Amino acid sequence: RPRVLYWFRTDLRLHDSPALHAALELDPECFCPVFTWDPHYVYRTRAGPNRWQFLIDSLTHLSHALTALHPSQTLLVLRGPPLALLAALLAAHRITHLAFEPDPDPRAAARDARVRALAQARGVALVNGDRPGRTLWDPAALVAANAGRPTTSLAQLRRAAAALAAAAEPPRPLARPERLPPPPPERPSPADLERADPDVAAGRAPDEGLGADVNAALRARPERSYAGGAAGPRADFAVPALEELGFAAGAATTPLRGGEGEALARLGAVAGDAAFAARFAKPATAPTALGFGPEENGTTGLSPYLHFGCLGVREFWWRVQGVVEEYEGRGKREGGGAAKATRPPESLAGQLLFREMYFAAQAALGERFGRTVGNDIVRFVPWHLPSKLAGPNGDGSGLAPADAPGPDDDADAYRVDSPQAHAWFRRWRAGTTGFPWIDALMRQLRRDGWVHHLGRHALACFLTRGGCYVDWERGARVFEELLLDHEPACNAGNWMWLSCTAFESRFFRCYSPVAFPKRWDREGRFVKRWVPELGGFPERFVYEPWNAPAEVQRKAGCAIRGDGLSPVEDDAGDGLQSYPEPMFDFAERRDVCIRAMKKAYRVGLFGNDERVLDGSWRRLFDDEAEGPTEGE
Ligand code: FAD
Repeated sequence: RPRVLYWFRTDLRLHDSPALHAALELDPECFCPVFTWDPHYVYRTRAGPNRWQFLIDSLTHLSHALTALHPSQTLLVLRGPPLALLAALLAAHRITHLAFEPDPDPRAAARDARVRALAQARGVALVNGDRPGRTLWDPAALVAANAGRPTTSLAQLRRAAAALAAAAEPPRPLARPERLPPPPPERPSPADLERADPDVAAGRAPDEGLGADVNAALRARPERSYAGGAAGPRADFAVPALEELGFAAGAATTPLRGGEGEALARLGAVAGDAAFAARFAKPATAPTALGFGPEENGTTGLSPYLHFGCLGVREFWWRVQGVVEEYEGRGKREGGGAAKATRPPESLAGQLLFREMYFAAQAALGERFGRTVGNDIVRFVPWHLPSKLAGPNGDGSGLAPADAPGPDDDADAYRVDSPQAHAWFRRWRAGTTGFPWIDALMRQLRRDGWVHHLGRHALACFLTRGGCYVDWERGARVFEELLLDHEPACNAGNWMWLSCTAFESRFFRCYSPVAFPKRWDREGRFVKRWVPELGGFPERFVYEPWNAPAEVQRKAGCAIRGDGLSPVEDDAGDGLQSYPEPMFDFAERRDVCIRAMKKAYRVGLFGNDERVLDGSWRRLFDDEAEGPTEGE
């Protein structure tokens, strides 16, 4: 009988899991569920403590769920590089079938190709299920149905989906298993695993040419995930603790807890409110909501659960479709016809279609999707703080080490072509721009790891074409570190959208940091929650406290002063708290940016243009508006 190794990755659930379903259909004699604690993600992927904590929660929940289906089952977390560990396990357990959910992320897909080759070389069969698990449709098949091009609109996406199947609807979700086979009689022995990676066996961090730890600056202590060997410090294959990653106690501040149970409970609450789920209209939900769902006029908050695969996307889709049908049917039965559900793009189904659109756009371009250079759908704009990848050879080569950012900076390499723009970027990142709306959103992102979609709009527009004129790649890197739901395809795609470099072109429509939030929250509840220094400001000044007369500031207990970078002594003699002065005149900056965008559109280069790759684009931009970035 088959002996199955099930490799969990971004599918931390038991329901609606095509690969798991197919693996169990084999009726295996043993079933070995593993998760590999991959050094690539520990050291090379920008991720703060909130996202690690969410992963730890999700793995812990999954392990308990496995035990509930068979008392001898737990999730085996193996620390080390996946290829080496899998090779050791396939041999040690005489595995006949290796099962996993395909991951369309470009780097993961390249890793999976190596794993497939390994399995084939060992005569081990691969099991991936009869449909994709991470998305509604297979992104590669969508690209093929879109004539090999990235999908850049919902219309294209829907046409491609319709071409894939008789019905444009995605397949139905699969049921959760009711039992599991036993695990292999023996756990993998340290000797088996020692052969997998000599560094891990010796208690050192794996050395796969990983380079510098991009998260080093976030850690309070040295990272020690691999110090106890592949089976962990207690040799029990348990889920690692946050402290092992070197984060300080209490570093994870998000109130959102990971796990399939939490995901299904939240989906249940969404589906349980028929009017909310069926009449969902994204643009009408409030970026100033203090919570999720109907009570706060918020959105669902389900994105982190989709990201980690705690929630099956087809489960989400069909639960909502069920509610919509019931809701509209009820209207008809009651003779009304008034009960009309919303439709894409603004409905909940529409939101999931946007996710598909970005996955399929990324599938067409691979890693190039995440940057400007070499990306043929993204417009070239000579932003400030460009990535070093945009250097003379287009791949970052030929740049002097002296161009590397300082210790204060993001580990990502970019050129500081404008000290002014650099200061703005650092203030944006720290939530000290002096614009309360922007700072509140940034502080929410840092503490909770989540921000409403329109809040993300405001942050991204402000950093790029609607204020700072800083490269969208800088903002995307910061989101990568801080978002719980960070999804390479959705993050890069939305940054391109908001910077009007792809997907969207109405760059003259900017978000004012004063007028925009007032539409939802005139009294500034949201700002006061996240920027408590401003708690005493009257409604009139809460979004523009710099306009408050000194007397109002004194009464509010907070003075508007300082540059937002160097701390102001709170006891500046007056007993008042401090909140920084705004870093620029927004209306002025908006006009400068719009002029610069007009110019970039007129020049009309895209990321794959030779002139972008060889640097000769500079000759096409004069010094009007922002002009070309300086330097090499
Ligand atoms: P809901 O409105 O309840 O939507 C339901 C689901 O639909 C979401 O969970 C999400 O999976 C999907 N969805 C909704 N809107 C979008 C969208 N515009 N693009 C892609 N999927 C969408 N979303 C991510 O999942 N990961 C990211 O890294 C990410 N980065 C973003 C960066 C920027 C600059 C912007 C403007 C948006 C980004 N988004 C990202 C999209 C969107 O903001 C979030 O998916 C959404 O806010 C999550 O909240 P929710 O689950 O309550 O959404």
